[in-house]
Amino acid sequence: MTNSAVTSSSSADEARVVDAVPTGLFIGGTWRPATSGATLTVDDPATGKALCEVADAAPEDGMDALAAAVAAQPSFAAMPPRERGEILRRAYELMMERIDDLALLMTLEMGKPLAESRGEISYAAEFFRWFAEEAVRIDGGYATAPNGTSRFLVQKQPVGVCLLITPWNFPMAMGTRKIGPAIAAGCAMVLKPAAQTPLSMHALAAILAESGLPGGVLNLVTTSDAGGVMEPLIRDGRARKLSFTGSTPVGRKLLEQAADKVLRTSMELGGNAPFLVFDDADLDKAVDGAMLAKMRNMGEACTAANRFLVHRSVADAFADKLTERMSALSVGRGTDDGVDVGPLVDAKGRDKVADLVKDAVDRGAAVRIGGEPVDGPGYFYRPTVLTGVPLEARLTAEEIFGPVAAISVFDTEDEAVAAANDTEFGLVSYLYTENVTRALRVSERLESGMVGLNTGLVSNPAAPFGGIKQSGLGREGGSVGIEEYLETKYVAIGFGG
Ligand code: NAP
Repeated sequence: MTNSAVTSSSSADEARVVDAVPTGLFIGGTWRPATSGATLTVDDPATGKALCEVADAAPEDGMDALAAAVAAQPSFAAMPPRERGEILRRAYELMMERIDDLALLMTLEMGKPLAESRGEISYAAEFFRWFAEEAVRIDGGYATAPNGTSRFLVQKQPVGVCLLITPWNFPMAMGTRKIGPAIAAGCAMVLKPAAQTPLSMHALAAILAESGLPGGVLNLVTTSDAGGVMEPLIRDGRARKLSFTGSTPVGRKLLEQAADKVLRTSMELGGNAPFLVFDDADLDKAVDGAMLAKMRNMGEACTAANRFLVHRSVADAFADKLTERMSALSVGRGTDDGVDVGPLVDAKGRDKVADLVKDAVDRGAAVRIGGEPVDGPGYFYRPTVLTGVPLEARLTAEEIFGPVAAISVFDTEDEAVAAANDTEFGLVSYLYTENVTRALRVSERLESGMVGLNTGLVSNPAAPFGGIKQSGLGREGGSVGIEEYLETKYVAIGFGG
C-alpha cells in the first residue's frame, strides 16, 4: 500500500496509465473487440483532447454479455461466501496498492484533482472491504409458527443476474458500490459504465480478474448506444435485477422498462440538496461544511449542496466567509500541482451552469465572485458565489452540477423547512445549528433519505446511502446494501401430528 500523496503527474505517467488499461469489452472472462469492430473515444475534459479508444458495444455484444452472466450464475451462487469475500478483499488490497495510477487515470478521464481522485479510489475500495466482511454475514432464521404446528425456515439467496449502470461523476465508486454487494451476495452481472468515463471500470475489471473472480461473473459493456444495448437486456427476463445510478429522467425510463419483466430495481438518482444555516450555527464550521458539500467533485455530485438557505441575521457573514474561501481556490487541470477545482465534464455541462447563473442574475441575484466560464481549452467554470437568489430561480429547482453556491435567506424555521422540502428530489439535506433540539426536530422534518447534521459529507460505505421522493429507490452500502442483491425464501415446515 502506498501512502505518498501524489499531487501532480508527468506526461510519461499519463501515457503509461492510459496504455495499461484494457480497451476491449470484458465478456465471459475475456477481453475482446466489439463484434462490429467499432470504438468510441474517451476525452480528457481538461484539454478536450482524446485519451484513447475503447471498444464500442452493439446490442449483440450486450446479449453475449448477458449470456455469459447467465452461464456463470449457478456456480458463482454456489461458491462459498468466504471465497467470494476473499476475492473482494484481494481486490481492495490491489486497489490500494495501485491508488496513484488509478487516481491519475480517473483524473484524466473525468477531470477532478488528483487528491480528490485518490479520495474516491480509497472510498471505492472501502466498498469492497466492507462487502468482503458482509459476504459471510448473510443471515436467515428458524422459528416456530404461532400455533406451534409448523416451523418457518427463512433463507437468503442471491437475486440472480444483475444489470448495473453507472454515471461519469464518480467513475470508480459508483461501480464498486454495486459490484461489491453483488459479488458478496453471489450474483453475476453485466455492467455498463458511462461512455465518457469507462476507463476506471476497465481497470477495475482487470483487478477483479486478477483477484480471482471467475470468468463471466462481471461482464463489462462500454457503449455509445446506452439505450440500444441495455433495453433488450432489461426486457429479456433472464436478468433479475437492475441497479442504476444516474439522472432522474433516465431512471424513470429504466423503471418503465424494468416493469416489463418485474425486475428488482435500485435507483440512485438526482438530488437538489438544501444546506440550512440557522442563526445559532457555528459559522466557521458551516463554511467548512459548505466548501465540502459544494466543491467536492467541482459540484458535480448528486449530494452537492444546491441551495444554501441561510438565516437573514447571519446571511451576510456567511456569504463573506464563503466568498473568501472560494476566492482562494485555484482552477486548473486536475493533474497539476496545487489545483483545487478541475474542469466540468463537457461543454454541455459547463454551458448549463452558465445558463443557470445567468437566469439567477436576470432574476436579481448578485454575483459575489466568479459567475463566468474560464476561456481556453477544457470546460472550466469559475468558483461562484451568488447572494440574494430568489426562490423562483431555475437553479433552485435543477441540479447545478457545477462550482456555484447560490445563497437565499429565510426568517423562520418553518419557512426554512418549507423551502428545503420544496423539491421533487429527496437525496440529502445539510443542517447547521448548535441547538440540539432544533437539530433533531429539523432533521425529522426534512424530506430526504440522508441528513448531514453539522457535517458537509455523508458518504460512507458502512452507512445506508440513498434517497426518497424522486431521488430514488433502495439503499447502497451499510448493512442493508447487500439486501438489495438477496431474495428472502421462506420454507414452511409441516410437523405433522
Ligand atoms: P445519466 O445521463 O442518467 O447517465 C447515467 C448512466 O445511464 C450512464 O451510464 C448513461 O450512459 C446511462 N444511460 C443514459 N441513457 C440511458 C438509457 N436510455 N438506457 C440505459 N442507460 C442509459 O446521468 P449522468 O449525467 O451520467 O450522471 C449525473 C446524474 O447522476 C445526476 O443527476 C446525479 O445526481 C446522478 N447521480 C446520483 C447518484 C446517487 O447516488 N443518487 C450518484 C451519482 C450521480 P451514457 O454515458 O452513454 O450516457
